[in-house]
Amino acid sequence: MTSENVLRAARYPFLPEAREFISRNIDLTLESLEKTGSEAALKRAVERVENALIFKEVKVTVLDELNYVREILSFPIAVILVSMTMNEYVRRMYALGESRGAYRRMLNESDETLLYIGEKMGVEGVLDDESMIRVKIPTYLKLAYSFHAPHWKLVNRAVSNGYVLMGRNEYARLVQVEINNYVYEKTLEPVPMGAAPDSFRRAVGKIVEVWSKLEAAKPSHISLRERGDTPPCIDRIIKKMENGENASHFERLVVATFMIARNRSIDEIIEFFSKQPDYKYSVTKYQVEHLAGLRGGGKKYSVPSCRTMLTNGLCYPDEYCKGIKHPLRYGEENAANKPRVS
Ligand code: SF4
Repeated sequence: MTSENVLRAARYPFLPEAREFISRNIDLTLESLEKTGSEAALKRAVERVENALIFKEVKVTVLDELNYVREILSFPIAVILVSMTMNEYVRRMYALGESRGAYRRMLNESDETLLYIGEKMGVEGVLDDESMIRVKIPTYLKLAYSFHAPHWKLVNRAVSNGYVLMGRNEYARLVQVEINNYVYEKTLEPVPMGAAPDSFRRAVGKIVEVWSKLEAAKPSHISLRERGDTPPCIDRIIKKMENGENASHFERLVVATFMIARNRSIDEIIEFFSKQPDYKYSVTKYQVEHLAGLRGGGKKYSVPSCRTMLTNGLCYPDEYCKGIKHPLRYGEENAANKPRVS
């Protein structure tokens, strides 16, 4: 592997070449990790997760890159540690932090490297003569669905011969989504606690401690189990609105689209919104009908994805969120374990 490739692997340790580097040079079994001088990598792995929890972004400095063995190894170790926490919020924040950090770094890459990373992550892009990147429509739709800004809607995009055209930054955003998905899926792989070395268990304890401190600083958590099919993120907003607290525009959109998706009538939704301090019947009716697709172009708005909720600081996952990407799928993947509400 060339030195350039090794540095790239250190900067983007989820790429196949990073895995290849590890499989060629390092024994990644849990038993051997402790013996092979992985202390520095373990420390850096904890730092990766802390970066994600505290700053919502995993930072990689030039010095980190130069320390490439430690850097490459720290990623799979961080994934193991996150998996060991068995904490859904830590999982999601870690995936978000890694993908956000990678996004920022990708913006500084050459077109060639950016397209290379995209291709390796399954987001193939083709650079055209006008320096636009072309992405196949199905790939675009799969990744852009979580973006709510109007310019991401396919109807608002330049499309040519089955490809969507975009600039570098937008392409990097799509790749970021796939990096997020990849890292999150990795953290779902179970790690037997018993097999983990003591140093790993201590590291997990440190991460949980950081998470607990951050949790304690948040507004008090409300137990949501009795609500059955309503995911915790949305239940929090509902509780807040029921108490007459002012919800943000985005929170209102989330609740309204959720109620529409659950076939609540327009009148019921308007009634629910009537507790808002700035409530006006005509405005609320117009907005709810608009979201339900009964006005304007007839477009029905969907509930934001889990990723969008997370980036807006509104994700408060519990164990029934495990593996889901959309609040309407809450409990579905884990239906067997789902509590029944009588
Ligand atoms: S449904 Fe999704 S957004 Fe809501 S709490 Fe669960 S994981 Fe977070």
